[in-house]
Amino acid sequence: MPYEPPLALHGGTPTRTAAFPSVSDAAGRRLGDEEVAALERVVRSGQLNSTVGAETRAFEREFAEYYGVPHAVASSTGTSAIHLAVAAVNPEPGDEIITTGLSDAGTVLPILFQNAVPVFADVDAATGNLDVAHVREKITPRTRAIIAVHLFGQPAPVAELRSLADERGLVLIEDCAQAYLTRCAPDGALAGTVGHLGCFSLQQSKHITAGDGGITIGTDDALTRRARLFADKAWPRDTDERTHLFLGLNYRMTELQAAVAREQLKKLAGAVDSRCKAAEPLNAAIEALPGLATGATDGATYWLYPVFVDPAAAGADAHRYAEALRAEGVPAVGGYIPRPLYLTPALAERRTYGESGYPLSAPPADVAPRYEAGLCPATEALIGERMLVIPWNENYSGDDVADVIAALEKVHHAFTDAPPP
Ligand SMILES: *Cc1c(COP(=O)(O)O)cnc(C)c1O
Repeated sequence: MPYEPPLALHGGTPTRTAAFPSVSDAAGRRLGDEEVAALERVVRSGQLNSTVGAETRAFEREFAEYYGVPHAVASSTGTSAIHLAVAAVNPEPGDEIITTGLSDAGTVLPILFQNAVPVFADVDAATGNLDVAHVREKITPRTRAIIAVHLFGQPAPVAELRSLADERGLVLIEDCAQAYLTRCAPDGALAGTVGHLGCFSLQQSKHITAGDGGITIGTDDALTRRARLFADKAWPRDTDERTHLFLGLNYRMTELQAAVAREQLKKLAGAVDSRCKAAEPLNAAIEALPGLATGATDGATYWLYPVFVDPAAAGADAHRYAEALRAEGVPAVGGYIPRPLYLTPALAERRTYGESGYPLSAPPADVAPRYEAGLCPATEALIGERMLVIPWNENYSGDDVADVIAALEKVHHAFTDAPPP
C-alpha cells in the first residue's frame, strides 16, 4: 500500500495554506495605472455624467466594434443590461419569458419588473445550460422571449435557440454576464451576437469590471433603440424635445464607470486567454478521475470552473467534495446557488408588488405559475448534489493550478479508494 495522506477534513495537513488570487481584491484583478489615469481624466474634466461627457458613448462604440455589432447600450449594472433587453421586447403584462433556474437572480428579476412571467425550462445535466428540447416544450401562445445564460462562460446552445426563436417569432436574449469572448457552436460566433440581444455585466467578479456596469448589444435598430431610450427615462436626447416616449428609468452608466470599462476592455482578451490556459492542466487531470467531468466545452472562457460529479462513481456528492477541498485550502462550493431561482421567495411566495402577487397571478397571467420543487429535475440535481464549482482567476499561476489539482486528486482518492493517477 502506498502512503495515503489523510484528508485535511479528517485532521491531515492541508494541501495549501496561502490564499489564491481572488476577484474580490487587487491580487485577482487587472486594475492598474491605466484605470487610475482614466479616472483622473474624468474627474478633472468635471464631466461625470454620460449626458455631458464622452466616455460612455466611446465605451459603447468600442464595445460594439469589439463584438462586430452595430449597437451597444451601456447601463448601470448587468441586471439593468438585462432589464433593457426585456423592456425592448415590450411584453404585455402576463406574457411569458422562458429562462433557466440556474443563474444569478439578475437574469430573472427584470422579467418580473416588466410584469412578465418567468417560465423555467430545465438544463442539460452535463453543462447546466438550457436544454433546447425543454425550452421548446415550454413555449405557449403567450411566450415572447427566451433568455439563455452561458453558465460560467460555457457556450449555451444559442444557435439552436435562435432557430427556435425565429421559427416561433420570439426574441432570443443572451445573458453573457459570465461569458465574455465565449465562442458558440457550430461556427465559433461570439456569445452575445447569436441572439437578438446580448447582455454583459461589469460587476466586481466578472471577467472585466468597473465595480458595477452593464452593456446590451444587438444588430436590430428598433430593439436597441428601445433599449437605449429605456435606460434614460425614454428621453429622446437625439431630438430637441424634452419628453418621455414611454415608461423608462434612469439606468445610465457614469463616466467614471465607462472610463474604467474602456481600459478593462483593452485587457479583456489577455484575461480570457490566461483563464483558458490556466484551465488546461485541470481539464486534463479531471479526465483521469472517474466520476468527475469537466465543463471544458470548446469555446468556454472559465468564469468559474464547474466540475460535474456523479456521486455514485466519485464516492461523494459535490457538497462533500467542496467541503473537503475547502479544508485542503482550495475554495469551492457545491451547487453554485443554494436553490433554483424559482424557489427564492420573490417567485415561490410571489413577493412582488404589495400583496397582489402581480404579475404571477391570473390575471394578468393566463394561469398562475407554480414555482415548486421538482419543476426542473436536472437543475435541482446539479444544485443539490452534482455540481462542484471552483473559483477561477486570470492571475492563477502554474503553482496555484497545481495545488487545485493536487487537492482534487487527494480528495478523489480518499473518497473512491482509487489508486492515485
Ligand atoms: C452577475 C450576473 C448577472 C447580474 O449582473 P449584475 O452586474 O450583478 O447586476 C446576471 N446574470 C448572470 C448570469 C450573472 O452572472
